[in-house]
Amino acid sequence: MIRIKNDEQIRRMAESGKVTGRILEELEGFIQPGITTLDIDNFVEEQIRKEGMIPTFKGYNGFPASACVSVNEVLVHGIPNTAQILKEGDIVSVDVGATHKGWVSDAARTYAVGRISEEAARLIAVCKQSFFEGLRYCRAGNRLTDIGHAIQVYVEENGFSVVLDYVGHGVGSKMHEDPQVRNYGEAGKGPVLQKGMALAIEPMINEGVAEVVTSEEDGWSVRTRDGKLAAHYENTVIITDGNPLVITLGSADQSSIS
Ligand code: MG
Repeated sequence: MIRIKNDEQIRRMAESGKVTGRILEELEGFIQPGITTLDIDNFVEEQIRKEGMIPTFKGYNGFPASACVSVNEVLVHGIPNTAQILKEGDIVSVDVGATHKGWVSDAARTYAVGRISEEAARLIAVCKQSFFEGLRYCRAGNRLTDIGHAIQVYVEENGFSVVLDYVGHGVGSKMHEDPQVRNYGEAGKGPVLQKGMALAIEPMINEGVAEVVTSEEDGWSVRTRDGKLAAHYENTVIITDGNPLVITLGSADQSSIS
């Protein structure tokens, strides 16, 4: 069942989203060669708690950290740790959720560590832009699968693969609510989008094959089957009567879409 949010609930989610978006924007300046993935997690947790909010991921299904930090061929759900030191040329995605007065925002970005290859930069840019291609369809009266269809078309036109095993989701008082938001498929199917729906739209794309495998070692990290790079970009989006509200953008991205 898709739960429609009222104005007060959306207000709380937006307050949370403002913090999530700001943290992800600040990570641009924080991420550099020589830091560990746990340094990123510590930064994220400190910033969330400083705002009086709760890191949604911590303890979620037993996940041990406040952020998922996924390096290079790891697509999602990387566990931050002290042993993993970022080096020049890596790419790293960071996924963050914050709970504010019971309401959640969820967002992710993929970052360059120092100078990266042209292909890696293109993967990151295509992943981000594919979100905005999907966003055009986030309007009341459209159908849910219009979003994923637009994402898939854009990603594949650019020569990359859409991951089929992981999808976006509704978000609200819980991090994962109905509906599932696929990043692929035919347009014109699924529920009609309505004012008050809140969706975490999160393209996950691979440089090579679409297939991914979950690490047997830690039971969490999901990596590309062929070991090539993966990227992830996510925002929490509210459907309105007019333009969609993207509540987890940092100030730079906010001004570029308005
Ligand atoms: Mg999500």
